[in-house]
Amino acid sequence: MGDLLVLWDVDGTLLDAGGVGGDLYETVFAQLFGCTLEAFAPMAGRTDRAIILQTLEMAGIREPRRYVDHFICGLSAHAQSVRETVAGRGRALPGASAALAALGGPGKFGRVRQSVLTGNVRPLAEVKLAALGLRDRLDLCIGAYGDDHEARTELVHVARRRAAAVHGRLPGDFGGTATVVIGDTPLDIEAALATGARAVGVATGSYPASALAEAGAHVVLQDLTDTGKVMRALLA
Ligand SMILES: [Mg+2]
Repeated sequence: MGDLLVLWDVDGTLLDAGGVGGDLYETVFAQLFGCTLEAFAPMAGRTDRAIILQTLEMAGIREPRRYVDHFICGLSAHAQSVRETVAGRGRALPGASAALAALGGPGKFGRVRQSVLTGNVRPLAEVKLAALGLRDRLDLCIGAYGDDHEARTELVHVARRRAAAVHGRLPGDFGGTATVVIGDTPLDIEAALATGARAVGVATGSYPASALAEAGAHVVLQDLTDTGKVMRALLA
């Protein structure tokens, strides 16, 4: 087997962060605008860039695009402050740690590189994963994050380029199904399919297995509890 790039979604796939995302949005909004944030844009499967923009529009902020980078800086700056809350209120999803360990085992499956493809800004992804003991098997330098681009599909290209640069390959070496995207929303599946990657759905977030199958996932798992099944889904 050649190189394989496995890109895990974070929220709803590897972990449940206990709702700290919303807390952070409230904190940053209050700091930037001096008032209370009344409503959030939908978050599941979307990038922070997209969520921030729509949330600011909903709050009636004029020229909201001007503030997206400031908001991202705010989220990043406050990420460490939610570590204890994630550790207390959040949880690693069943089987996540075992799946990461099985895939990351030395020499087990040829050259498997595993990282994340997430809508979170990188500091927050890192804090969530570390707080719940899931960080160590992941090569976060080759991941793609919610501050890299508004569109999730673009994040697949970002991760391929980073993996190629770090491992001395050409981006094309991770093209097509040499990349596997695993996530809990139809947007994860769409991002995979739009970039020719293999799409694995896992129904532990806010969407049932049927919605992920309908979106076109090559395989849909109910959860990550059967490590053998997860490996077969990712390595097929
Ligand atoms: Mg998710």
